[in-house]
Amino acid sequence: MRQVKRKFRLKPSIVRKCKVLGIILVIILGVYLFYSSQINSLTKLGYSKEASKNILFQFKKEYVLSIGKNKTLNAAFESNDYKEKYLDQYTKIDYQNQKHLIKNINTLIAKGYSNDTISMILAHGSDNDVTQFAKRDKINYLEEFLSVPYAKLSNYDRYVDYSNATGEDDETTVLAVNLDMDKENYKDAIVVKEFSTDMLVNKHRSLNKNFQPDDLVSIDTEYAADDTQKGSRIAVNAFIQMYKAAKKEGYDLVINSSYRSYEEQQEICDTYRDLYGENYVKNYVAMPGFSEHQTGLSFDIGSRNSNVFKDSEEYDWVLENAHKFGFIQRFPSKYEAITGFRSEPWHYRYVGKKIATYIYEHDITLEEYYALFLDTE
Ligand code: ZN
Repeated sequence: MRQVKRKFRLKPSIVRKCKVLGIILVIILGVYLFYSSQINSLTKLGYSKEASKNILFQFKKEYVLSIGKNKTLNAAFESNDYKEKYLDQYTKIDYQNQKHLIKNINTLIAKGYSNDTISMILAHGSDNDVTQFAKRDKINYLEEFLSVPYAKLSNYDRYVDYSNATGEDDETTVLAVNLDMDKENYKDAIVVKEFSTDMLVNKHRSLNKNFQPDDLVSIDTEYAADDTQKGSRIAVNAFIQMYKAAKKEGYDLVINSSYRSYEEQQEICDTYRDLYGENYVKNYVAMPGFSEHQTGLSFDIGSRNSNVFKDSEEYDWVLENAHKFGFIQRFPSKYEAITGFRSEPWHYRYVGKKIATYIYEHDITLEEYYALFLDTE
């Protein structure tokens, strides 16, 4: 039997359907390629995928391309709080990495703050500080205090109060309040828990009863007045370097007092209270927990050649050279108002060479150095 070869043919209706399907696929592919090239032009500029998507849906691509890379604008398009009417302002306000950035910017714009003032507000506080601040009525002349680089938004009211009470200028006011000098001595002190060579302990920053330096060692009587002296190893080693350098030039240094525990400081307070009364203790002796001697980083330095250190040749030598070994004179007479302590020419504090040199060269206190560079709270 002869087989009949039959060509395989699709029904015309199916062919038609396939063509339509093909056209649809080509269109989808085209749209997809167009869309991703649009997104790419924005992501290449530095916008996130999420922000780029929203920029396209809001038909703001041309606007954004004309602005270029802008982190605040990116955050605005990433945020549910984006408001089209504030678009121009977003581009002029400095970005900060804060969770409620756009929401807070909206509130501050609505309160009537200028773009520059909003940038300043954002730069001087945390997300929470700004959120709290945004709830307040508008404050005029904010730049009075906030133009000081290390001013804190959260301290604003205290700046106003301190400045009104003392008549001090902006910079002095910000420094004083940041250092809690507007609070009573020994009251509501911050507790410093971590040992470090740049730690700040004073009448507003205290140590716990059980605090002691991580590396407490005994000091050899070659360098100390008696065999009970102790200190942080790093400070003791630095002192030995200084002692030897001084010796080479004919000066004879000695440590008269060094590490003191909380209990030992308590005993000192009690003794002086019995001898000279409460007022003397208040003015001249640090309360237990508030003495730098508890850090192990402070030494009362003397001269083996003279009973009065300040009148000795050793004093002049230490004043000019201590920073090279990482020590600073901690309580100079002209800075009593900042340190909170009467002048103690003999009291030296180890802070490391870098900080000691800065403090020496700029003639400032450890308090000021802390406010400028170390205060991250
Ligand atoms: Zn001392």
